[in-house]
Parts: sequence; structure tokens; C-alpha cells
Amino acid sequence: MLVVMNAHAEQDQIDAVVERIRELGLVPHPIPGSTRTAIGITGNRGPENRDTLVMLPGVEDVIVVTAPYKLVSREVHPESTIIPVADTEIGGGFTIIGGPCSVENEEMIIGTARFLIERGVKLLRGGAYKPRTSPYSFQGLGEEGLKYLAKAREETGIGIVTEVMDVESAARIEDVADVLQVGTRNMQNYPLLRRLSKANKPILLKRGMAATVDEWLMAAEYILSGGNYQVILCERGVRTFADHTRNTLDLSIIPVVKHLSHLPVIVDPSHGTGKAEYVPAMSMAALAAGAHGLLVEVHPEPERAMSDGMQSLDFDTFTKMQQSLKPVAAALGVEIR
Ligand code: PEP
Ligand code: MN
Repeated sequence: MLVVMNAHAEQDQIDAVVERIRELGLVPHPIPGSTRTAIGITGNRGPENRDTLVMLPGVEDVIVVTAPYKLVSREVHPESTIIPVADTEIGGGFTIIGGPCSVENEEMIIGTARFLIERGVKLLRGGAYKPRTSPYSFQGLGEEGLKYLAKAREETGIGIVTEVMDVESAARIEDVADVLQVGTRNMQNYPLLRRLSKANKPILLKRGMAATVDEWLMAAEYILSGGNYQVILCERGVRTFADHTRNTLDLSIIPVVKHLSHLPVIVDPSHGTGKAEYVPAMSMAALAAGAHGLLVEVHPEPERAMSDGMQSLDFDTFTKMQQSLKPVAAALGVEIR
């Protein structure tokens, strides 16, 4: 359910509604808006408490939310969410996050951070803990990788996005990262999502490789329902019969997610195609489709990368791609960050 306060409701009236919701054994989630406050309610199994809430002073209406996900839905939160991260924001404009698949050593990650900052990119993504299909593939540098990421931020001021794979390492990653990435394989790892619902950093939640939009938004709901309202969704391609690309980048989900949810949604054209040569076209398409940004793999020497070299852009190609996005963004009236 959703309690909509009237536009002139006083803070003590809002507090009283929050208190009453708690007394009923439910969980209140106040959502301040530009004109009025709404209070999302989770934990209720039906509309039976509606009457007691609708009578409280300052309450305009109590709405039964029909979407299976509540806090994630636009029904509950009509205004689009913009998430401040490091020196930038995600939501509203078009925010580029770049970097290698894996942190491989100190020099390459700092070199990539310097390159990106010079190009105006404010967020560096690099994996220290890597979920690899084969146990024999490079698994990431772990804590050493986190140290290099921290150093890259220290030396360049760039914000850090990195993947968290399990509950045990979450605290360590939370200390270093500005945004915690949940990979496609972990989208429905519910203990991990519950842990991240208590994190004080935004979560970048990739779409499961076979997840429907409802399953994806329900996974996000796990994070919001525990009190972390900062979730960025990321489309990274799904499994289909097609084998001309690594995955099938499902850009059709962008307007759908924007209709159903207030959360920002970005696109990963690197895992979405698996081939660097197709990344610029799909990045342009993501921008045109209304995505709020990109997560794109960039490597100083893709041919030497320890993971995902085939789909990583080198610095020159990244620069050219960034240039070619500009006129499209201008035509759409979207700011590239
Ligand atoms: C990655 O971002 O490098 C990664 C492993 O992505 P995904 O979880 O989408 O496969
Ligand atoms: Mn990768």
C-alpha cells in the first residue's frame, strides 16, 4: 500500500502516520517528493489496514499498489530517481561508466583511470572478484585488486564501481567502492541482495541472463525493501537462440523498465554483444532508447586482457565512440556525464 499525504501535511502528521504503520506491524518507507510526501508500506498481505490509515490527519489517500514489486514501482514513486555517485549522478542524464573487465595490476588500472578522467568519465569499473564460467580462468586479484582500485581513486579522484559476489566479502568491497555491482549470475542470490539492502552504497544490479522484467524488478525490491533505495538497473543481454553475438542485448526493456519503475537503467553493450566492433552501435542505440548510461569495457591493450578482451574497447575506439554519442545526445536533449 501507499499512503499519499496531502500537499500541506506537517512533519508531525507524517511522523504520526509512520508510527501508526509500525504499530500495525508493517514497515514504513517515507518517500519525500517535490510537492508531497508518500509513504510506501511493505510487510502487509492485504488491504485490511487501509481504513485506519486513511482517517489519520494529513492523509490524502491510501492506494493499494497493484504491481508485485512495490517500492521499485512508479505507482509508489512517480518521480524518476537520480542517484548521486562520487562526482556525478546516475539517472536523468546519460552517465558513462568505463573500465576493464578485471583489475589486472596497479599500472593498468591507474592508467585507465587517468585516461577516463581526462575524457570526462567520472566512474571507473573494474572487477577484483570475478565470476568466471570456468574455475580455471583468472578469478581476479581479490583484495589486492581492491587496493589498486582505492589507489586509482586516490590518484585521480575517479569513482569506483566493482563487483560483489558474496556476503562474506561485502564489507570489504563496501569500504572501497562507490557503487557495488551485482552480476548477472547473482541477480537472484537472495542472501546477497538482503545483505546489500543494508549497504550504505548504491547497488548496480545487472539483469539475470534469463530474467523477465518482473523477476529483475523483484530482485531490486529485495534491496529497497531492506532500506537501500539506491539501485541502478543494468541490461547486459539475455540468452536466446542467436549466436552472432555473445548475448542478445534487449534494448526493448529500457522503455518498459522506465514505464514500470522510477529507478535508473543503464546498458552494458560489452557483455551484450561480446564483440568490441559492435559496441559503439549498441551504445548509440542505448542512448536513443532512453537509457541513463553505459557500463562499457575499456582496456589499454584489449589483446592482452586477462578477461573479456574481445569485447573491450581500446582507448582510441572509446574516444571515437564518445565523440559520436555527442550529436545524438544533443538531438535528444540529454546531457552526457
Ligand atoms: C562483468 O561486468 O564483467 C560481468 C562479469 O558481467 P555479467 O555479470 O553481466 O556477466
Ligand atoms: Mn567482463
